[in-house]
Amino acid sequence: MLEGMSRQTSRHCAKPTCDNLAAATLSYHYETASVWVEHLHSEGHPMTHDICLRHADGMVVPQGWTLEDVRYSAPGALPLPQAS
Ligand SMILES: [Zn+2]
Repeated sequence: MLEGMSRQTSRHCAKPTCDNLAAATLSYHYETASVWVEHLHSEGHPMTHDICLRHADGMVVPQGWTLEDVRYSAPGALPLPQAS
């Protein structure tokens, strides 16, 4: 009965073997060699990946690439408590 529903109602981390709920949206901008981590988009997109908070915070980008984590710098974004 749940076929086709879970994809719409809950999104999970795109990382293999990770089953956490998606908390951020990852996108690769090849023209600027940058990886963007944003608040989870309301809709999925073929060019973006949904990842969980743990993988978003632990994101490592390829050599020569820049990580642009805009989750905490975007206008109106509330800083989230982070375990240090
Ligand atoms: Zn994950």
